[in-house]
Amino acid sequence: MEQLNYHKLINLKKRLEKYDCEYSKKIMTTIDECIIEAKAVSKKQDEERRCAYQFEDVTCEICGKDYQRGYIYKHKRDKHGKVSDKPKKEINALEFLKKCIEEGKELTVDEKVKILQDDIVENKKKLAVLEEKMTKEGKKITGT
Ligand SMILES: [Zn+2]
Repeated sequence: MEQLNYHKLINLKKRLEKYDCEYSKKIMTTIDECIIEAKAVSKKQDEERRCAYQFEDVTCEICGKDYQRGYIYKHKRDKHGKVSDKPKKEINALEFLKKCIEEGKELTVDEKVKILQDDIVENKKKLAVLEEKMTKEGKKITGT
């Protein structure tokens, strides 16, 4: 047996809209009440599903232990000190170094120099792209 849910009730209401009489009005009122109820039920189910997803066990690929999905990121960060090895594109090298220090990650001088150099290379590439774009548009960058 099929069950009426929010969307099916809405469809039912649409089908009734072509009638205009006392009976249809009565049925409409009941359907409207059911729609409100069904909407609340579906919202609750969505939340429960989302919640169940967060509490689902996932295996940490580093230590092989099972943790809840909502906790695994924190676990990896706290237990394995996992921070990304490269600066993200949105932040520059100095910000990345600051973040490493704040997170207690120890970097050697060579590692710090490499991060800064990579940033320079990255910025040079960006500048080249920008220059090319501006040249195409007929604009000139002063000093080049
Ligand atoms: Zn682990």
